[in-house]
Amino acid sequence: MIIVLRPKASKKEESAVLAEIRRLGYRPHAMRGVARTVIGAIGDERTHHTLETLTALPQVESVMPIQKRFKLVSREAHPANSTITLPNGCVIGGKEIVVMAGPCSVESEKQLMITAEAVAKAGAKVLRGGAFKPRTSPYEFQGLGEKGLKLLAKARKQTGLSIITELLSEDHAEMVAEYADVLQIGTRNAQNFQLLIAAAKTGKPVLLKRGLAMKIEEWLLAGEYILSNNNPGLMFCERGIRTFETYTRNTLDLSTIPIIKKESHCPIVIDPSQGAGRADLVVAMCKGAAAMGVDALLIEVHPNPKEAWSDGAQQLTLEGFAQLMRDLKPFAAAAGRS
Ligand code: PEP
Ligand code: MN
Repeated sequence: MIIVLRPKASKKEESAVLAEIRRLGYRPHAMRGVARTVIGAIGDERTHHTLETLTALPQVESVMPIQKRFKLVSREAHPANSTITLPNGCVIGGKEIVVMAGPCSVESEKQLMITAEAVAKAGAKVLRGGAFKPRTSPYEFQGLGEKGLKLLAKARKQTGLSIITELLSEDHAEMVAEYADVLQIGTRNAQNFQLLIAAAKTGKPVLLKRGLAMKIEEWLLAGEYILSNNNPGLMFCERGIRTFETYTRNTLDLSTIPIIKKESHCPIVIDPSQGAGRADLVVAMCKGAAAMGVDALLIEVHPNPKEAWSDGAQQLTLEGFAQLMRDLKPFAAAAGRS
């Protein structure tokens, strides 16, 4: 930690700060400049008391951390990329840009099976589909629940795709983990820490969406809840954040790809469907993400988006998805991926 004193702090006030730093278990190192004194406090904040309480002293101007608050998700802790292998053998974080595709919500056996067959044929490796849906309004379709999970399991058996589905509540952790190969934590629950712990404890890989208004450091710290509960299967998923812009549903922050790659060893996934909320923008955002080094894409696909029970405007048709897979190839190749 770096502690900056106010310009007119007296010798006595400086000594008081030094004594307080020692009392909290750190070694202080004062650097006296012409205008002010800056103190470096040496010690690991993760094992000592926080030094942020020093801001309460009137002679202290600011307290700044020099060590990152996240550790297990950080590249420092694990310099090589982490990979996550799913039951069907597909590897997230490896050479292939893994495509996870399927409907926003599981609606019926027919809708799911048609979609699963089509996305598998086009090259997707993972089937997505919500059985428990986090809807803004309680009057909107809430998902088929366990019946939807059973349909996902059936689709897996029929197509060989792995399954990703959202875990909405701690109460369902065991049940959802029984069916799913990857647990999705939605944007609205990205800082529901008890849910994160429950998800981690199932032992299933976890896809952690970025919260609607979440800073990247907060997202990394939320990921820390997964790894620190002995679950190494964490992937981050950017799905757009709230900004002043209303032209798109959310603002997809593609800068998270190089940032997560720099700060963390965990795979980064992009969800362009929630990202813009518009089917016509999905292809361009996938191409950009592929070029920038994304590890996987999470894409909504529906046999008849106009009739979808949720997120109709952003879902690709089956043909649209097959075309996207063809369009994506040269971008993946240019990035040294398949
Ligand atoms: C979804 O994937 O359908 C979904 C609800 O995602 P998010 O949590 O990103 O809104
Ligand atoms: Mn959706």
